[in-house]
Amino acid sequence: MSQHLTAGQKAWLTAELEQRERQLRAQLDAHLHGQSRVDRAREVLQQDADDAPQRRPELAVAAALTDREQLELNAVSQALERLRAGRYGQCRTCGVDIPFDRLKVQPWASQCVPCAA
Ligand SMILES: [Zn+2]
Repeated sequence: MSQHLTAGQKAWLTAELEQRERQLRAQLDAHLHGQSRVDRAREVLQQDADDAPQRRPELAVAAALTDREQLELNAVSQALERLRAGRYGQCRTCGVDIPFDRLKVQPWASQCVPCAA
């Protein structure tokens, strides 16, 4: 288990990650529901074929946002799992302790700066 973080730092990082997880879940929900509304609108508009192409960029943006949020949510969930398992804060590539300054900015980071670059 990594010892380079104090109990206070870990508590702070855990709170940050949990808050981010809630935020991302809410955003994903909103986009998924928003996207199904767009889908329904497109089905209606397909009977009126002229309008359908204008709907596509909107769908692509919603899908891209959803993908990005899903990836971040995965990273956040994995970081919380590492915290619970006592494996948090070490680079998954080279094994060095990831400095608190980096984790403060990106609590879900699983690599040190040189390995992430
Ligand atoms: Zn590394």
